[in-house]
Amino acid sequence: MAASITTVAERSAFDIALAQLDRAAQVLNLDPAVHLFLRAPMRELHVSLPVKMDDGTLQIFRGFRVQYNDARGPAKGGIRFHPEETIDTIRALASWMTWKCALADIPLGGGKGGVVCNPKAMSRGELERLSRAYIGAIYQILGPDLDIPAPDVYTDPQIMAWMMDEYCKMTGHYCPGVITGKPLALGGSLGRGDATARGAIFTIREACKHLQIDPREATVAIQGFGNAGSYAALLAEQLLGSRVIAISDSKGGAMNMNGISAAAAVRHKMETGAVADLPGAEAISNEDLLRVDADILIPAALEKAINESNADQVRARIVAEAANGPTTPEADVVLHDKGVFMIPDFLCNAGGVIVSYFETVQNRQSFYWEESEVHERLDRKITKAFYDVLSVYRQREIDMRMAAYCVAVERVTEAMHWRGWIK
Ligand code: NAD
Repeated sequence: MAASITTVAERSAFDIALAQLDRAAQVLNLDPAVHLFLRAPMRELHVSLPVKMDDGTLQIFRGFRVQYNDARGPAKGGIRFHPEETIDTIRALASWMTWKCALADIPLGGGKGGVVCNPKAMSRGELERLSRAYIGAIYQILGPDLDIPAPDVYTDPQIMAWMMDEYCKMTGHYCPGVITGKPLALGGSLGRGDATARGAIFTIREACKHLQIDPREATVAIQGFGNAGSYAALLAEQLLGSRVIAISDSKGGAMNMNGISAAAAVRHKMETGAVADLPGAEAISNEDLLRVDADILIPAALEKAINESNADQVRARIVAEAANGPTTPEADVVLHDKGVFMIPDFLCNAGGVIVSYFETVQNRQSFYWEESEVHERLDRKITKAFYDVLSVYRQREIDMRMAAYCVAVERVTEAMHWRGWIK
């Protein structure tokens, strides 16, 4: 069952997800048939989307939706719009959603979707037509009891609103619960905007307690300055009292060992579209950001950022994976040997799906919670998940990622067993 050994560049995110699962199967002594079942998505749909562009031409886009495993409930997972999107990345992300929902102990399975497109080069009108075409092509496998999408890289509340509207038109009834990450006016939840970062910060808070680090003395470096990364910077300051010393986005990074004001960086990014030339900070590359002498490193961009070519240069004591799949299995081994404490992705960034789940609960009840209630419930859920993982990490003396896999895979396996899918 071992995944083939290839270089980082050749290895897809799904190869990595399977290599992680294979290790967990070994640790758990998983039944070979169950292992085989968990190595592939239960269902996937590939679609072609004809979209009329502003210049009158017709462009055909490729889209996917993967439902990896729905033993514990309807599939749940975001939709990415990205020029380098591949079915393999979507499969990997859908598998991680399965483990994430199980680990967070919410009654949902794992799914993910994506469209190969470059949203930065498209007008709002083109994006709206593409969003509607995507839902038109997949709406039959969506619904609050089937599969509930959400935003992910380069998709936002406006895109969720168009998608919800299209689903309502196709099915003929108002159904806000089909999608999460919606604007508040359409049944979005208070607290969803910063939920991924807030959850990550709660797990960092607990990791600091475990490692006896005072977060007020700690420094933070963050790669990626979108939804997850920018809120992580703001909340690292606000909730932990930590000093953010380096940030970056796809155009480059900025560093100041005396501290960067997260709010000023957010303003600068809004005004200029980048963080690289932030006043008062020196420019650094994305590679250099990973080597910065910070106590806490938060990868919050894309997959495979920390890999065999740079893992030995990471100097942080805690790596908190706000992004999905930012560390390759080879890098995992290096970081573990260096004594870096890893908060693995599907634990660290589970805040987004936890509050998405709260959003569907509120949609079903047609009753909406105060923001403080969302924050408190998120804190309880993700803190419980952190200690579920920490307890297996201590008992089995395995790394945190494997401990998270053990908890999640056992929960999914138990659900499949009770449903009679496996012996
Ligand atoms: P986003 O589109 O809001 O932001 C992505 C950021 O990454 C942008 O600042 C972009 O400039 C930057 N980036 C892209 N390529 C980069 C590179 N090579 N180096 C450095 N920065 C780069 O996306 P997001 O929602 O913040 O998602 C970021 C990560 O967090 C993804 O892995 C996503 O799957 C994960 N995640 C997000 C959520 C959520 O609720 N938004 C939930 C769970 C996980």
